[in-house]
Amino acid sequence: MIKFGFAVIPLPRSGCAFSAILLAAVVLGAAALAEEKPEPLSEEIVVKGTRAPDRYLLGWHEYRSQHFVVDSDLPDWTVAELVRRLEKLRAVELRNLLAEDVAIPGRVRVIASSASLLFSDLARDRFFTGSSLRCQTYQMNCRWLVNNEVFDNGASAAFRRGACTDDLFVAANYFVSRLGEPTIVLPVAGGRVHAEVIAHEVAHYLASVLFFQPPPWFREGFASFVQTIGGDPLENPPPTGTHIQRGERVIEGAVGLAPPGLMAALCRDHVSAGEALTWDGEESSRRPGRYHAQSWLLYHWLWNERSRGLSEFQRRLANAENPDLAWRQVFPEFDPKRPGGAASLDKALLRYEMNLGGYIYSRRKAEANTRYTESTLAPSDVHVLLLDARYSVQPQKLDWLGPELTKLLEEEPLQVVGISWHADLDRTSPLLLLRKAIEKLPLDWRAWLMLGRAEEDGERKLVALQTAVKLNPDSALAHSELALLLARSEHPSDALPFAKRAVELAPWDAGATVALAQIAATLNACDEAIEMHKRAVRLGARADLHAQLDEVIGRCAPTRN
Ligand SMILES: [Zn+2]
Repeated sequence: MIKFGFAVIPLPRSGCAFSAILLAAVVLGAAALAEEKPEPLSEEIVVKGTRAPDRYLLGWHEYRSQHFVVDSDLPDWTVAELVRRLEKLRAVELRNLLAEDVAIPGRVRVIASSASLLFSDLARDRFFTGSSLRCQTYQMNCRWLVNNEVFDNGASAAFRRGACTDDLFVAANYFVSRLGEPTIVLPVAGGRVHAEVIAHEVAHYLASVLFFQPPPWFREGFASFVQTIGGDPLENPPPTGTHIQRGERVIEGAVGLAPPGLMAALCRDHVSAGEALTWDGEESSRRPGRYHAQSWLLYHWLWNERSRGLSEFQRRLANAENPDLAWRQVFPEFDPKRPGGAASLDKALLRYEMNLGGYIYSRRKAEANTRYTESTLAPSDVHVLLLDARYSVQPQKLDWLGPELTKLLEEEPLQVVGISWHADLDRTSPLLLLRKAIEKLPLDWRAWLMLGRAEEDGERKLVALQTAVKLNPDSALAHSELALLLARSEHPSDALPFAKRAVELAPWDAGATVALAQIAATLNACDEAIEMHKRAVRLGARADLHAQLDEVIGRCAPTRN
């Protein structure tokens, strides 16, 4: 099935021994710093909160399981069920997608709440689920659906409302947070955690690890294809006029089903294949879920009718090739830029949609560890999580961000992410406040990470980032920042274990990719350096990293050899 692998530079054997030594130094460094007397500050800082947090920020807890950190204000038993489903669905999805067991390190953060802002402001990913208790008959075709469901075509809004329409429209979100953490937002309605929604968002996370920046149609098509593993059981009665049962009588959730909800979404609205291929990832609220549905059909068709081509396309995505070019090379007959290319794809998809049957679905079981620990979550930490999620939905409209950060810091002046974010906006230094925060919270990895980013003194920067890595071995960002710093040092190869770990934790991390490029260039491994440079540019490396990238080109310009 999907070939899994990272194109990273092999770790020299000496790197392991070195990293052990360095980590020992980190432990010493952290202990020494934690016990050190606080430095006299150049000015007195008032650190008293002057504003009470809003009610919806109270009563949250954090639950840590093997692969997730769930932040929630829901009752314990609801979260226990959520953790069980998250772990189970992650294990089952991996088992059904990959030919062999692959350990993916790190944890995914999950924000789960019934708070209304989760549904309205924070959930950008809006799509249809494939089934519900009232929409569970298998093998629905468009003709049946048109006769039994109301399709919103404006003038005919008086038609009867069917069960495979609005009920199935859901919202959630997947994004990478300011702290570099893969994060899922799950609005929870009526105390019920919808397994299909969880399956969809977990699939987004897995796709971001398995494939390098896939295009929107692939991202949503893949997630919708996988989500049906979490669907409600489907009824599969014998065809009218016969008692001959075809396949299972009741079809439990499986990867790759064609459930009635997704079929109805397709029949109700349509996007051409060419439009789906060039979709920018935004759905219109007037025509909900239509690109998601068409993307699902495209992926489903590729999986069943063009499986060899799909494997090749996915292999190229995993190897960070340009997706448009990869599509044109693997499926030249469906190149939307060639005359007739989009029309042929449309024709093939329409034929497939009309005769959808006899396709393959997969339901391999997998064990999962569902144990977890619980701790309380400070309202200011909840506030910053929600703020980050909101920012992920609307990064272009920033007028709300400054006032919201001010509110956050009035509630807790030493909330470290807020301090550093506010300083970024104001173009001021957060150093004094961050140092003050560390006096109060010496074991908060976020404080050390933010301090490491803000410090200008090389030694202090190094100790802060080493401490962040030590306190949170799951943090890709802490590893990546440390790798970038070491890559600029006299011994750039010292950065290798940290850059490698950061890329394992977060293949989408531009900083770690820049560090890998720089290390490779220093070691005269120019092919790898140029490859990593290319990847870093595609990942959109931050402006402050361009000097490091320029150095790579300086050493390894393609014309050099
Ligand atoms: Zn999605």
